[in-house]
Amino acid sequence: EPKIITIDGPAGAGKSTVAKEIAKRFGYVHLDSGALYRAIGYFCKLKGVNLTKKEEVLGAIKNINVELLPNGRVLLNGKDVTKEIRTPEGGVLASQVAQFPEVREFVVKLLREMAVGKKIVIDGRDAGTYIFPEADLKIYLTAFPEERARRRYKELKEKGFNVTFEEVLKEVIERDKKDESREFAPLKVPEGAVIVDTTGKSLEEVLKTISNLINN
Ligand code: C5P
Repeated sequence: EPKIITIDGPAGAGKSTVAKEIAKRFGYVHLDSGALYRAIGYFCKLKGVNLTKKEEVLGAIKNINVELLPNGRVLLNGKDVTKEIRTPEGGVLASQVAQFPEVREFVVKLLREMAVGKKIVIDGRDAGTYIFPEADLKIYLTAFPEERARRRYKELKEKGFNVTFEEVLKEVIERDKKDESREFAPLKVPEGAVIVDTTGKSLEEVLKTISNLINN
């Protein structure tokens, strides 16, 4: 049985849903790396930090403490921000702070500490390439942009956000481009990863594919 499972891929591929289910069914600790970038972006915004200024962002994160609880809640300096960070704006703020190598190093250090002595499944953009290159099982989850945008759109609508499908599609494509083109630890298929295309597949079908990989 793998000790470290990484799940990477573009926005809306279903990474966090899949990671959460795998954690539940196989007894892994789920590390949601995007939540850390979201919490940092959110914190910077609260503090009035200019997100294009690296020095300001690095100054701000000296005073930050982020915890990922076993029940999926995210604590920022002790305060529950789970809901606040999971907004469309939260995604944009996250990808802005994620551009800075020093911020990425900070997050990687936190995640590696959180993983010590545990069986973990981690989802992100660089989990298998940069955070845990030594992972036992690497998965690259993907789907056509229209399908990923459709899922995001549905999720946002259910949460009561006032967005159009076109806006979500544009945002998904822009975020992918940004994540793939950044210089430091960009989004790409990790060496040795299994590519799982979820276009037209149900969650159960995807979970079955991954369960087979875990059991073999
Ligand atoms: O996965 P999620 O949508 O929460 O991630 C938000 C943003 O955080 C991503 O678009 C990406 O820019 C950044 N991120 C990252 N590396 C990770 C996880 C997230 O750069 N491992």
